[in-house]
Amino acid sequence: MPVTGSCHCGAVSYTLKGDAPDTAMTCNCSICRRKGYLLHFAPLEALELSCDADAVTVYQFNKHNIEHTFCKTCGCAPYGKGTGPDGKKMAAINLRCADDIDLDALAIHKFDGASL
Ligand SMILES: [Zn+2]
Repeated sequence: MPVTGSCHCGAVSYTLKGDAPDTAMTCNCSICRRKGYLLHFAPLEALELSCDADAVTVYQFNKHNIEHTFCKTCGCAPYGKGTGPDGKKMAAINLRCADDIDLDALAIHKFDGASL
């Protein structure tokens, strides 16, 4: 079943094609530790957004590899965009904003982003 999700106010929503993940990644880098992301990565073409382009703001820092996207109205960050190690465009889905996913059932993989 595809994964659907949204920000809190509903201005930003998405459908991610493919099966719902049973794992997620947490990261200890400067932004992930503040945001509390539970991340799932997928090819960017699997992500279908339904929101106005001006509903979101993008925050970037350091090497500007990742577009940290969040809703201008409620501040939630349902997804981001970036480039994988192989150069492919990737979507980073914040499973905390996903519908119908049991977050406590996810197998969590910890990523040491702080050491990069
Ligand atoms: Zn919102």
